[in-house]
Amino acid sequence: MIERLVVFGATGDLTARYLLPGLAALHATGRLGGRFELAGAGRQDWDTEGFRRWAADQLDRHGGEFPAASREAIVSASSYHQADVGDVASVAAVIAGEGPSAAYLALPPAVFPIAVTTLHEAGLPPGSRIVLEKPFGEDLDSAVELNRLLAEVLPEPAVFRVDHFLAMTTVQNVLGTRLANRMLEPVWNSTHIDEVDIVWDETLSLEGRAGYYDGVGALRDMLQNHLLQLLCLVAMEPPVSLGERDLRDRKVDVLRSVRPLTDADVQRRTRRARYLAGRIGDRRVPAYVDEEGVDPSHGTETFAEMELELDNRRWPGTIFRLRTGKALGRDRMEVAVHFRSAPHLPVGFGGEALPNMLRFGLDPECLTLDLTGVGARAETLVPLELTAEIDPPELPPYGRLLLDVLNGDAALSIRGDEAEESWRVVEPVLAAWSKDLVPLLEYPAGSDGPDAPAG
Ligand code: NDP
Repeated sequence: MIERLVVFGATGDLTARYLLPGLAALHATGRLGGRFELAGAGRQDWDTEGFRRWAADQLDRHGGEFPAASREAIVSASSYHQADVGDVASVAAVIAGEGPSAAYLALPPAVFPIAVTTLHEAGLPPGSRIVLEKPFGEDLDSAVELNRLLAEVLPEPAVFRVDHFLAMTTVQNVLGTRLANRMLEPVWNSTHIDEVDIVWDETLSLEGRAGYYDGVGALRDMLQNHLLQLLCLVAMEPPVSLGERDLRDRKVDVLRSVRPLTDADVQRRTRRARYLAGRIGDRRVPAYVDEEGVDPSHGTETFAEMELELDNRRWPGTIFRLRTGKALGRDRMEVAVHFRSAPHLPVGFGGEALPNMLRFGLDPECLTLDLTGVGARAETLVPLELTAEIDPPELPPYGRLLLDVLNGDAALSIRGDEAEESWRVVEPVLAAWSKDLVPLLEYPAGSDGPDAPAG
């Protein structure tokens, strides 16, 4: 296990909200060695004492559920180093140490290439690892270039392109539920499944993050990475093991089988939109273009949807609809698997036999099966919903992800070719949207999004 984590961008939101609590969770469950060190790096003129005070505040705010002793242990294991990731000498000073480090780039994605080049020139100690947040690049070309730079620094197994969705229990449950239940896998194909909706609709709006989000948008921020990863887990062939090679090979197969979209497909099968002013519960939300720091000329979408089909033996004719949006009227985070209708219903039943649906709720985590049963009046069909709550995970997603990084287990991180294939899927959409072949629709904050579904 690597015992030194160096976080570049240690004064940022990701560190505050997720990395510090993730480390506290690891400490609380006895998974951090006694020699663990957290070296925080940033451009701010802070010192270790100031960083520790800030980290303690953030842990109170975002990690209050972990024991005080664990929060204190993370704070006292931390130090601060002023460093600009464009400056080799300051970066070399942070990474210098006896043993290997895990260098976590909690940085704006635009800075990743320069950070990787600087780490190369500064010389990471042998056995070190690099962790990159999403989005990995901003299009296919930049992802290919970033992979090239990384390959000069470290071998592929030491590169962790993380996606915290993969560390969520329910996301892993998609695969577990499919493959551990004999009754599901035989019907897990286009003969029986009509459509799969992969949805991440949130009531959260921009929440002051224009600096990161404006110019990036919903397609690059969510759909290209998190939602395509969910698609992979739903649609993949059963892997031989959950080890990194088997799991990632099968995911790449799915991405490679996505039918490329033509301009006409993009016009027919994708939608983009951004929110207007509105009310979500008792919260008034300004229009996206009036949010602080937004440049309307970027034409950034806060809602993205696309329909995909897979050209492989298992899925001919099944539609996979991926959709995500901000400032919507309700949180809906789920994978909904819609089965086809029963092929024949004996004459004599009343009521309606609705098609079966299996839903993996991602937040809150639950599993729901929509069946049809018989009601109080015999021969009358009624909807029947079976719901199972899922035990809360022992570790939050960032705890699991950091544990895998420190242990060198890359199974739940994205391999270089997988990152490139994900961009290949969305490239035609980015190209057509940039030529305005698809209108930028609008929806009031607090609504269900732009009205007509794609297709
Ligand atoms: P922030 O803007 O809050 O923080 C970015 C950090 O990078 C700041 O500490 C900033 O410090 C530092 N930084 C910027 N430029 C440089 C530089 N040249 N040298 C050294 N440090 C620099 O962003 P987030 O923390 O929100 O996001 C970081 C990454 O995590 C992004 O890739 C994002 O996509 C990803 N992510 C974020 C999530 C979140 O909820 N926040 C969730 C999932 C992923 P300063 O400017 O003070 O030097």
